[in-house]
Amino acid sequence: MNSADLLIPSPIRELTDVVFEKAGLKVFVKRDDLIHSEVSGNKWRKLKYNLAELSGEKPGTVITFGGAYSNHLAALASLGHIEGIRTIGIVRGDELTPLSSPTLRHCSSRGMELYFVSRNEYREKEHGALAKLLLTRTPDTLIIPEGGTNHLALKGVGEIPDECSGAGISPDFYVVPAGTGGTTAGLLLRGCSVVSVAVLKNAGFLREDIGQWASTGLLDLQLDYHFGGYGRYNQQLIDFIAWFETQHGVPLEQVYTGKMFYGLYDLIKRGYFAEGTTLVAVHTGGLQGKLER
Ligand SMILES: *Cc1c(COP(=O)(O)O)cnc(C)c1O
Repeated sequence: MNSADLLIPSPIRELTDVVFEKAGLKVFVKRDDLIHSEVSGNKWRKLKYNLAELSGEKPGTVITFGGAYSNHLAALASLGHIEGIRTIGIVRGDELTPLSSPTLRHCSSRGMELYFVSRNEYREKEHGALAKLLLTRTPDTLIIPEGGTNHLALKGVGEIPDECSGAGISPDFYVVPAGTGGTTAGLLLRGCSVVSVAVLKNAGFLREDIGQWASTGLLDLQLDYHFGGYGRYNQQLIDFIAWFETQHGVPLEQVYTGKMFYGLYDLIKRGYFAEGTTLVAVHTGGLQGKLER
C-alpha cells in the first residue's frame, strides 16, 4: 500500500469527561480507525506483515474466511484491490449471496471472489472440500485464518505500544474489544496489561485461545458486555453510542467499539480502576459495518 495513504502512527488523544476526572483517570483513545479509508483498525495491523510475506511473489492469491459481517473480509478485499492481488473469501452460510449484506456487497465491488459454504463445511476451514479444491487449483496461495489472526498478525498489533510510547504515553492498561482475541494477544505478547471486552456470549474460551498465542502480559477478560451475543445489540447500546459520539466526536459501531467503550464506562463508574491509572482504549475500526440510521 502507498504509505502516503496511511495515517501511521495513528493519532492518539485524551478523552475528557467528568466521570474520568472524578475517578482520577487519564483515558486516551488510539484512533486506529483513521489508519486508512478502507483498510483500517486492527485489520490493517493484522494484515500488514501477512501482505509483506506475499508481496515478494506477486501476483499471488489470498484465501480467507469470514461471516456476512466480517470486517476482516472487507479489509482484505480492499487490500487485494489496491495491491492487485486476487482474493477469495469463503463465507459462512450457504443460503447467502454476494448481495446479502453491505459487507459482502463491498467485498464483491472490490473484486473478491466469494464462495458460500454450509456451517459444517465452514468449521473445517482450509480442510473443507471447497477450500481444498481451490487450493489445488491455485498455487502460490496464502491462507489467512478467520479474523486474520496468526503470528504475523500479532506482530503487527504489537506495534501499537511502540506508537504510544513514541507519543510519550505508557498506559497501565490497554482496552480493546475481543472477537478472536488476536488483538488482545498481540498486546499481551508485548508484555502489556490488557482489559479485553468480549463481544460474544460465553466467551470464556477466549482465555485459552489467547493463552495459546501469548503467555506474557496481564489479561483481564470482561465477559459481561456482549449484549446478547456477536452482532447483537439493544437500544441501550445504540443510545450509548449516540451519546459517546456527541460527547467525544469519535464515531463508534455496534459490533465491537461500542461494546468496548460501554464496558469501559461501566467499569469506571463502578470504581474498577485505581486513582492515577492511565488507560489507552484502542479504536479498532470496523466503521464499515456501522448500522445505518
Ligand atoms: C475484527 C475486529 C475486532 C476483533 O479483533 P480480534 O483480534 O479478533 O479480537 C475488534 N474490533 C474491530 C473493529 C474488528 O473489526
